[in-house]
Amino acid sequence: MLSSTSQVQVPGLLGKLGVMTSIRDTELLEQSLLRSLGPLLGVLDTSLYRLDDNQKLARVIHYHRSREVEGDGMARMVERIEIVAQRSQMPPDIFALTENVRLLGKPCTRKHENLLKIAYPLFGGDEVCGYFVFTRDREVAPNEDATIRGVLEVFSNYYALLDVSQRDRLTGLLNRQALENNFDRIWTAMMRPDSFTETDIGRRSQPPGRYWLAVIDIDHFKAVNDNYGHMVGDEVLLLVARLMQTTFRAGDLIYRYGGEEFVAIIAAENDALARNVFERVRLAIEAHSFPRVEHLTISIGYAEVDPNLLPLEVLSRADRSLYRAKQDGRNLVYDFQELVERGIFPNPSYGETELF
Ligand code: GH3
Ligand code: MG
Ligand code: MG
Repeated sequence: MLSSTSQVQVPGLLGKLGVMTSIRDTELLEQSLLRSLGPLLGVLDTSLYRLDDNQKLARVIHYHRSREVEGDGMARMVERIEIVAQRSQMPPDIFALTENVRLLGKPCTRKHENLLKIAYPLFGGDEVCGYFVFTRDREVAPNEDATIRGVLEVFSNYYALLDVSQRDRLTGLLNRQALENNFDRIWTAMMRPDSFTETDIGRRSQPPGRYWLAVIDIDHFKAVNDNYGHMVGDEVLLLVARLMQTTFRAGDLIYRYGGEEFVAIIAAENDALARNVFERVRLAIEAHSFPRVEHLTISIGYAEVDPNLLPLEVLSRADRSLYRAKQDGRNLVYDFQELVERGIFPNPSYGETELF
């Protein structure tokens, strides 16, 4: 029995690893991991808890497979992927379990009624950077343990490679390539307000909400280079990136878009709340005392993300607002919609206004 399962499993496993390593995106890769391991372990539900650089919970992905009878009376295997907002809490039993995994750096098990909750660490270098968790009625057998560890190792190595290619080398922020790769999925996820997404859809499915995209540019940055040299310039760029990372909220996406230009995508219920977030970032930079340079400011232009508009149109609206902030003296936060209302920008064309 055992040998026949392992005979079947090995080609299947290689195929799954093949699929996994053909994916060019970290978040799809995470989903693919859950999709691969669930059937190998004979479980329908698997979860992945991803930690950020500060060991805080960054993302939770629940994967569920079930046989469902559909409208036409046919039963089909359906998979659901739920990607939970970053700031949500872990259930206490999962927290207790994963804390042990983190402290010991090895898999741990916890009894839950008649079942076992089993958690494996995911490693990024020597650090635990996440957990793979599933529930089952029996302990993991030694051959299964070897399979899980092997798959997780391939996954982690490949994840690290992908992650490096999506990050800017100086600041560690996501790079322009990552933004462009993510546009499609961000837009798709926004068009679907439901909290569950069917397979392969996307980045994250948050409760319906509004999103805002900002282009952020350091004021008179050329002067920093000219007066203090490129090395100081780089250090300032790094500091601005760090300050933004700590000032934006955990779920916000920050990209280094170009030299001293950044793009941020945030969720906010309304314009006033979005403005607050961007104002806070502007103030954090204004208040900071930078080495040599001392005083530095940024300008921000932002626009609401409308999933019916092309990403480049939203980016362009934010960018035009930024340009206006520069013209008006810098160290300002400008909202595209407000500039339209003030008559500074013409109303967007008919095809676009239809959407508001
Ligand atoms: P403004 O307020 O209008 O934005 O003026 P600015 O001087 O910031 O704008 P400009 O676009 O003229 O200059 C941007 C400068 O940023 C030019 C370039 O030397 C510098 N820069 C771009 N990338 C890097 C980088 O990676 N490191 C350093 N040190 N400088 C960079
Ligand atoms: Mg600039
Ligand atoms: Mg610039």
